[in-house]
Amino acid sequence: MLIAAAGTASRFGSTLPKPYVNFCGGPLLRRTLGIFLSLRDVASLRVIIHPDHIGLYEGAVQGLDLPPPIMGGSTRKQSIYYGLKSFSNPSDEDKILIHDAARPLVRPADILSLSAALQDHPSISLAAPVVDTLTRHDGSYVDRSGLYALQTPQGFALKALLAAHEKAGDRDFPDDTSLFQAATGIAPHLVMATGPNFKITTQQDLPMAEALLSSPAAFSTRIGTGFDVHAFDTGGDHVVLGGVRIPHSRALQGHSDADVALHALTDAILGALGDGDIGVHFPPSDPSYKGMDSAHFLKFAAERARQRDGTIENVDLTIICESPKISPHASAMRQNIARILDLPLNRIGLKATTTEGLGFTGRGEGIAAQAVASLKLPV
Ligand code: MG
Repeated sequence: MLIAAAGTASRFGSTLPKPYVNFCGGPLLRRTLGIFLSLRDVASLRVIIHPDHIGLYEGAVQGLDLPPPIMGGSTRKQSIYYGLKSFSNPSDEDKILIHDAARPLVRPADILSLSAALQDHPSISLAAPVVDTLTRHDGSYVDRSGLYALQTPQGFALKALLAAHEKAGDRDFPDDTSLFQAATGIAPHLVMATGPNFKITTQQDLPMAEALLSSPAAFSTRIGTGFDVHAFDTGGDHVVLGGVRIPHSRALQGHSDADVALHALTDAILGALGDGDIGVHFPPSDPSYKGMDSAHFLKFAAERARQRDGTIENVDLTIICESPKISPHASAMRQNIARILDLPLNRIGLKATTTEGLGFTGRGEGIAAQAVASLKLPV
């Protein structure tokens, strides 16, 4: 996956280069990257930048898990070529998707459709039918039926596109599908965009794209649940619940600090993101998590949501045990969770219950916790 952000955008008319202008509260490039980072299927994301923009780039991608950027050339074609060359020893099966950073509206579902279509076609492009009437300066009309506007992402068999770039030499092309077609004779397979995916070209495009993204239709509400159990040890002097140390005659067994409450919450957030669970991201087999403060796991889940431009609307937690008594510590736990998630206190629900002496919690064998999280994510 290559994200092209190396242009100088002469049409844009801004002192700040286009990929770094403020868009929806952050750099435009970060917004576009967030869409791709949310898709696990799209591996090996690399960003091509202008060599003069390294400082801006580092600021824009702070905290994101990305390989070093690729320095672009003097033309888009050259920049893409450098990007393609950065994948060493490509195999015949390797595919590549290329996307312009200036298209922040692309829908994740369309990216997945492209990835699937790329298995059957050596050249593909997201596209939209031309709806405007087309005319030439001489007054003659162009029949728009069968005409499509090509967008990005575009996808290719990596080795074939690399060969096409080498064959093209210094010749200029409007995009990679035209370059590929010139070299191979193969026209792109078109995948229709399911939503607006226009390119930010002028300053006026920014508020228009922001308005589309902030409309209620641009978000969906996601719900996730989490459930966790930890058994009591035979001895000990405290348990950790909701990040709060509570004196108790028996500790909880566990690889980390065994904070069953924060584990359930972490899983609820990851569940709402459709992003695995705590055991996938922090395998118990990894000794580095031994005795770890579970706030780390919860912070990680919240960061995963932020990386996808998601916001946590609220969380609700129920701790199930006969002892210790939770209510004296409930306020401290809520405050702690609010601080970790960077949410107002009134978005944190916390309750405790016994099971009336029934089951493993009733017999005092361990503590269970269940949690729900509600998130708002871009569609
Ligand atoms: Mg656990």
